[in-house]
Amino acid sequence: MAHMEEQFGVNVFNDAVMRQRLPKETYRALHKTIDEGRRLDPEVASVVANAMKDWALEKGATHYTHWFQPLNSVTAEKHDAFISPMPGGAVIQEFSGKELVRGEADASSLPNGGLRSTFEARGYTAWDPTSYAFIKDRVLCIPTAYCSYGGEALDKKTPLLRSMEALSRQAVRILHLFGRTDATRVTPTVGPEQEYFLVDKDLFDRRSDLIFSGRTLFGAKPPKGQELGDHFFGTIQTRVQAFMADLNEELWKLGVLAKTEHNETAPAQHEMAPIYAIANVACDHNQITMEMMKKVALRHHLVCLLAEKPFEGVNGSGKHNNWSMFTNTGYNLLEPGDSPHESAQFLLFLASVIKAVDDYQDLLRASVASAGNDHRLGGCEAPPAVISIFLGDELTEILEALEAGSKYSGREKTDMTVGVHALPKFPRDTTDRNRTSPFAFTGNKFEFRSLGSSASVSDANVVLNTIVAESLRQFADELEKADDFRSVLHELIVRTIHDHKRIIFNGNNYSSEWIREAERRGLVSLPTTVDALPCYTAEKNIRLFETHKVLSESELRSRKDIGLDSYAKMINIEAETMLMMSRRQILPAVLKYAGTLAASCVQMREAGADLRCGSSLLNVLCNETDTMKDCVDALTDILNRKPDSDSAETSAVYMRNCVLPAMAALRSSADRLEQITDRAYWPFPTYDELLFSIQ
Ligand code: ADP
Ligand code: MG
Repeated sequence: MAHMEEQFGVNVFNDAVMRQRLPKETYRALHKTIDEGRRLDPEVASVVANAMKDWALEKGATHYTHWFQPLNSVTAEKHDAFISPMPGGAVIQEFSGKELVRGEADASSLPNGGLRSTFEARGYTAWDPTSYAFIKDRVLCIPTAYCSYGGEALDKKTPLLRSMEALSRQAVRILHLFGRTDATRVTPTVGPEQEYFLVDKDLFDRRSDLIFSGRTLFGAKPPKGQELGDHFFGTIQTRVQAFMADLNEELWKLGVLAKTEHNETAPAQHEMAPIYAIANVACDHNQITMEMMKKVALRHHLVCLLAEKPFEGVNGSGKHNNWSMFTNTGYNLLEPGDSPHESAQFLLFLASVIKAVDDYQDLLRASVASAGNDHRLGGCEAPPAVISIFLGDELTEILEALEAGSKYSGREKTDMTVGVHALPKFPRDTTDRNRTSPFAFTGNKFEFRSLGSSASVSDANVVLNTIVAESLRQFADELEKADDFRSVLHELIVRTIHDHKRIIFNGNNYSSEWIREAERRGLVSLPTTVDALPCYTAEKNIRLFETHKVLSESELRSRKDIGLDSYAKMINIEAETMLMMSRRQILPAVLKYAGTLAASCVQMREAGADLRCGSSLLNVLCNETDTMKDCVDALTDILNRKPDSDSAETSAVYMRNCVLPAMAALRSSADRLEQITDRAYWPFPTYDELLFSIQ
């Protein structure tokens, strides 16, 4: 790319374009909406729509769409041409303020989890002016929220925006107590690091499992995996480098601040991290990133796999959700700060996160639950399904000293009273040594590492924003009543540390000792999606979301049901795919090979050769083939006996308890067969080809 600065954001109707193209008054009014969450005046909307249309037409766009994020974690768009008929058969290109601000989508086929019956199938989309419109494939995309006629959220953006409001409301109360009355808004920031795999398109096309489920359902381990650690940060392969360059260019044009790229731990695995943005924009950008990764890969005859566990035996892919809170005056509330005043404020916000994570471990776990992510969490490659916080030794010691009222015995011995003393310096880089923790403090932000690679980051951030808002609400209620602010503050921080320190763990989260220790500490363990998702409708959680007006009980129920339903459907697709590949590919191939082997044995015997290994090989092959056929029959039978139930939970439980074990048995038998079958007969590309073929 010749002029990166010139290309950056060329396809975005961003602030610079608005300033240039909108009348001053309109620009100012729109900014009020963006900065203060004010309602947009219809007249202002008309002017903006017109300017947006002119700009889009100049860029070659022919259509516009309200671009939204339904509950299945992808994005949805319905294109409308700018075209409008004129008398005499002519047309003009039009786009009104009404069309910009509000759309109507008959989207009865999108998941709604019982929030909308088909006879009132209409859904409405509403512009989120805080996220810029952009042009993608000649279509002007307007980021929107999507609700039912009754105003219930049918998407992932609406609750995210509501949770950002909730967090802001409570955080501002706290800041005002600290005398920071210039701060009128607090915004959560998110930087999601996105992991992915690339495989060759020809190889991909020959594997039904990759095509239908995005991950391999069969595949014996190759002789080499990731054990040499030679892929992580390794030299990037030429083909991958070309893909990355192309991807960056596309993302930059769309205003996504793609920054870091590198090879990840597993062979064929890579990562891209953007510079952080405000939460809803980061979420939109992450959706665009995932879409672009898939599109750009195809141009390079590659396929981008975003599934959480595409390959058994090597690391799966996640998404590290870096999160912090900024004031509208540009101050990071998770920055420890130098003065006693800043330290006290930092400690209170830190305490609010510690308390939130401890009080709502179940919700954080539920927010990352999916069939795909279940294969990752707890697999000694990703954080366990048990949520805990890593703070680093120094910060933990400081909190312990505070709690005990003793001297902090770190680098500089100090006696600490909140609001009187500054925090002792602790080096930033020592806070990020632990890569096994699900929730790590990394100097001036938290990194929630349990998200799956294909997930929308919305769910996790909705929970994060809301639970921290709740801690802050409780803190503000108490502090606003205090006569002696400083002493109540000190006492509150000490009490919060005391009550919630069980959630802090700085050791190795992959070890089995930790899981036992976590149990001893009474931390919540929700190993699978089926255990985790019902938490959304636990009494305390309904109360939480309703208090902060983020999600109503019926909205929560719909999310739980959709999650469980997708879980059950995903596993069903995988099981059916396995059966198809077994019956129509693996068994026929193995039988053909067995026939050849048998013929060789007969020939050898006729030639008078004493070849013991021929018949023993044949016997092993036949035995294993019988075993595999039994597994196919067992899985078929189990799928046929699926409970005929309307309850998503009943289906999901059956899938986990009965179908998954039968799939695992079938897989291990097929993988053993792969290892004793002539490669030339094996019906689809194997792991060594998939993982090591890209140069
Ligand atoms: P790594 O975790 O690989 O060492 P970093 O921690 O430096 O990398 O950054 C990872 C991500 O965290 C990036 O997307 C970065 O923009 C984001 N990030 C940095 N600071 C913040 C912040 N204050 N709030 C949210 N995200 C942040
Ligand atoms: Mg990081």
